[in-house]
Amino acid sequence: MIVIAIDGPAASGKSSVATRLARRLGFAHVNSGGMYRAVTWEILRQQIDPSQAGSVEAAVLRMSVDSGFTEAGDSFIRINAEMPDLELQTLEVNQSVSTVSAVPAVRILVNAQLRALAEKRPIVSEGRDIGSVVFPETPHKFYLDASPEVRHQRRAAQGLHDSIEKRDRLDSSRANAPLKIASGAHVIDTSHLTLEGVVETISGILCKSGILPA
Ligand code: C5P
Repeated sequence: MIVIAIDGPAASGKSSVATRLARRLGFAHVNSGGMYRAVTWEILRQQIDPSQAGSVEAAVLRMSVDSGFTEAGDSFIRINAEMPDLELQTLEVNQSVSTVSAVPAVRILVNAQLRALAEKRPIVSEGRDIGSVVFPETPHKFYLDASPEVRHQRRAAQGLHDSIEKRDRLDSSRANAPLKIASGAHVIDTSHLTLEGVVETISGILCKSGILPA
């Protein structure tokens, strides 16, 4: 199993970097945040109050879930036969995803999907706990950060409404798999780097471990 783990706070550039890096290496790109967003979207669709952990857990235990890879090499997740896409970036999902993702049953479900995908192909996986909890044994760990100003600018440039400080606070302070720098992770401040610059930096480090462009 080969896993490149990329963690970091909201809008630190993880998704763009992970996608670009995966294409360069010929690996699949696995977006764990998208999975937490999909579960959240389904919880909201069922009109369950995200703050009621017991109701969220009961709904999660009833969900039929499967995941795989698109032809382009990105992960997808299907929940109760639905595959949400653009809905995942809505304000409603942004506001509830940190609450839903703190529920242990939700994390168990997503982690099982992530590990199953990694069994199938080499992956670049991005999230909050990929290097610390999901794949602690991988030697390829990165933590991307950026100043709050730059992260706000990035979200605004995407035309998205996002409460990034609130999500970061909730994600960092939860008891279960909080956002943190995994032991052994390379920390990269992306504030003043271009997307290509970050990908080059990571590729350079991976080259030294024998992971080369496809
Ligand atoms: O990466 P993205 O910002 O799309 O993640 C959305 C949310 O999903 C995060 O704010 C966090 O609450 C949750 N998440 C998580 N663990 C991960 C990835 C995402 O708890 N590995």
